[in-house]
Amino acid sequence: MKCYDAHTHKIPYNHIGIYQSDAKYTASLFSVGVHPWQADVKSLSEIIPSLHHQNCRAIGEVGLDRLKGPSMEIQHAMLLSQLALANELQKPVIFHLVRAWDEFYALLKSKQQTPWIIHGFNSPKQFSRLLQTKVIFSLGPASLQNPRMHSILTQIPLNRVLFETDDTASDINQVYLDFSQATSTPLEEVYAQIEQNFLAIFGA
Ligand SMILES: [Zn+2]
Repeated sequence: MKCYDAHTHKIPYNHIGIYQSDAKYTASLFSVGVHPWQADVKSLSEIIPSLHHQNCRAIGEVGLDRLKGPSMEIQHAMLLSQLALANELQKPVIFHLVRAWDEFYALLKSKQQTPWIIHGFNSPKQFSRLLQTKVIFSLGPASLQNPRMHSILTQIPLNRVLFETDDTASDINQVYLDFSQATSTPLEEVYAQIEQNFLAIFGA
């Protein structure tokens, strides 16, 4: 069965993955975006050409980080421009969010037109509110290792789950195994559903 990695900083070699590109690498499926940490040093013009590449399947990582990077004002302005691009090009959006949930919920109401993916979802306190929206939960090694996430994993509708390895050395297969175990979902069912989700969101 094929493995799908929704967000990785390593070039995928034996599975299908959305590689977080620096806008130069376009050989595999990839995402490209101005990270909130770089909102004051990078410009949209650096990413726009690769956004039009056929292998570009998402805009990301974009978002808001209250603990790191330039002012929230600068981050917010950069995010707004990228959300406009996502809507214009009909691309899913991969979010990096740190302590900026109120701003995120406001944007979700007014700007969401494509699938929005919370990458590395690991915020149990936000879960009940997020459940009422249409966001996709992308789970990585840290999400599955957090004991406070365990009761939540079983409550996420399976059609709103993606898996990722992000910048870790973890094997994507392990994420499948850990999720299957934590939720008592048969592994075959997990593989089939993640494939369906991945293809519906990012295309083949
Ligand atoms: Zn990442």
